[in-house]
Amino acid sequence: MAKKCKDYVSELNDYLDGELAPELCQEIEKHVGKCENCRIMINSMKQTVELVCEGKPTQLPQELQVRLNQALKKRWDAKFGKQK
Ligand SMILES: [Zn+2]
Repeated sequence: MAKKCKDYVSELNDYLDGELAPELCQEIEKHVGKCENCRIMINSMKQTVELVCEGKPTQLPQELQVRLNQALKKRWDAKFGKQK
């Protein structure tokens, strides 16, 4: 069952929460390495993602998390249309 970009985007939100399993982190990184859409999408939060995947305890301030999630969703909607 191949995942679509949108699946990765929803996982990226968990990514930001630091709740993603290491295997999933790797999977996402692999996908992002091949997929320009997702690469652009996470570019602004790449640093955060890398921190989480390195297993370092990262806790984003709640406000920043919300802002990142909103920015991500907005860009995604603009590019691919609204998600349900
Ligand atoms: Zn993608």
